[in-house]
Amino acid sequence: MKIHLNGKLVERGEAVVSVFDHGLLYGDGVFEGIRTYNGRVFKLEEHLARLEESGKAIMLTMPTSREEMKKAVLDTLRANGLQDAYIRLVVTRGEGDLGLDPRKCHGKGTIIIITDKISLYPEEHYRNGLEVVTVATRRNLPEAVSPKIKSLNYLNNILAKIEANNAGVLEAIMLSADGWVAECTGDNIFIVRKGQLITPPTYIGALDGITRATVMDLAKKNGIPCTEALFTRYDVFNADECFLTGTAAEVIPVSKVDSRPIGTGKPGPITLKLVEAYKALTRSEGLAI
Ligand code: PMP
Repeated sequence: MKIHLNGKLVERGEAVVSVFDHGLLYGDGVFEGIRTYNGRVFKLEEHLARLEESGKAIMLTMPTSREEMKKAVLDTLRANGLQDAYIRLVVTRGEGDLGLDPRKCHGKGTIIIITDKISLYPEEHYRNGLEVVTVATRRNLPEAVSPKIKSLNYLNNILAKIEANNAGVLEAIMLSADGWVAECTGDNIFIVRKGQLITPPTYIGALDGITRATVMDLAKKNGIPCTEALFTRYDVFNADECFLTGTAAEVIPVSKVDSRPIGTGKPGPITLKLVEAYKALTRSEGLAI
């Protein structure tokens, strides 16, 4: 496996960074998870734009231009001969000293690009729906570390994931500090009520998901009304349908939340329509490798 590290393609064993890298010491950096389908990178421009925006929010200037970053992603995919892949693009603050101060980090920052085979939720969950629970760990306060920043500090999400693991399910719903439904540990959330899609506004403390935006667009094209609105666990329990969206998960139906079956307890018709529309889109557009 070839890994891109700071402009060079190196073997996995040689892809090592300094123990003084602030990405490691402090989670000081940003990242993206991107997918390729059938030899084409899906929504690469959108992912690179979000990476830059996350960087801007933490005052981390990208070490290379958008075009150079794009080329580095494509070169890494080519070097690994991958057609269907998951891409992890990481930019850290780089090597500094043991203090927090990012001004002590010399160099332009560390760029890492890993391309690997995608690992998915088991297929049965796409057919039957996924069971999730709401966890006690609240999503980060947007006024503290905004969940809009896709930073290397994922401890908030990891704590929630541990709670999901302890409950024996694969995903967790995270609430905002005020108790509104925010998102999941690695996915955005939608509910369907009386034929209408509802997803939490990202200001509540959720990532501005690229799959979320794609699904909202597909809903519009398919004549399904979609709004961004605050809602609670009660609204999820009493929704007709519920599904999650994410680059890795795509569109996945939710069958049960906190032991309450959602709707009929089976994936609903609007969810299934969007699953198909998303599948068709991922196979029909993207930047050729
Ligand atoms: N929320 C969180 C916390 C995530 O980590 C992800 C995955 N990147 C998502 C939502 C979904 O975002 P996207 O559709 O851009 O992958």
